[in-house]
Amino acid sequence: MLQSAIRKYLQSKGLEKMNVRTAMFDMDGVLFDSMRNHARCWHLTMEHFGFSFPEWEAYLHEGRTGAGTINIVSMRERGYPATEDECQAMYLYKSRLFDQCPEAEPMPGAFELLKKVKASGVTPMVVTGSGQKILLSRLQKSFPGIFRQELMVTAYDVKKGKPYPEPYLMGLEKGRRFLDGEPGSLPLNQSVVIENAPLGVQAGVAAGVFTIAVNTGPLDDQVLYDAGANILYPSMQALADGWDQLFHELTTA
Ligand code: CA
Repeated sequence: MLQSAIRKYLQSKGLEKMNVRTAMFDMDGVLFDSMRNHARCWHLTMEHFGFSFPEWEAYLHEGRTGAGTINIVSMRERGYPATEDECQAMYLYKSRLFDQCPEAEPMPGAFELLKKVKASGVTPMVVTGSGQKILLSRLQKSFPGIFRQELMVTAYDVKKGKPYPEPYLMGLEKGRRFLDGEPGSLPLNQSVVIENAPLGVQAGVAAGVFTIAVNTGPLDDQVLYDAGANILYPSMQALADGWDQLFHELTTA
């Protein structure tokens, strides 16, 4: 099952074998159990500004920029896009609500997985649509010794967020600079993406990177496969438990 998924990927990219050197982790719903808070805050914000937006819908838009989500809802509800001022006001409102939420816990299994990834000689990176300023300090507090500033791609780095490939393409560039000290991008066979949301999976797949889905939310597995996931684990703990085998298969496929 793993072998055939890996071979299928290699064949589709015309690659001979994998040589995984970096693992690009999404943050919300992967490293932190934060989607509940995001869904609630988006629901309250949209309601405050006169839009209908149930909490579950937030999971479908997960990974999109704030302005991207607001515009889709505005088009649907009013038939025209939101102005830049509206987007800013709504994103600010949502951010303030989010700041009042209890801090999300690390996802069970995440730290264990990160340590295993590192132990197998693979460099963990973070690629997120989030623009929270305290991101790095939170990551360092919850996952000490794992992440570095120059190995992160955030909302500040990209123009076109997920589902566009830009965040992950930039991850390949930052990985190349860090690991090889050279400009350019890591070859596709030198990285994997770990994502929980359909748009995030689409972004990883569009960037051409082997994409591992972890289904930590309320959506059906099929939604993530339809988005193009190469393989799927039911939780971060399951991926942590299965990492050594997966890494072995990736190395030998
Ligand atoms: Ca996510």
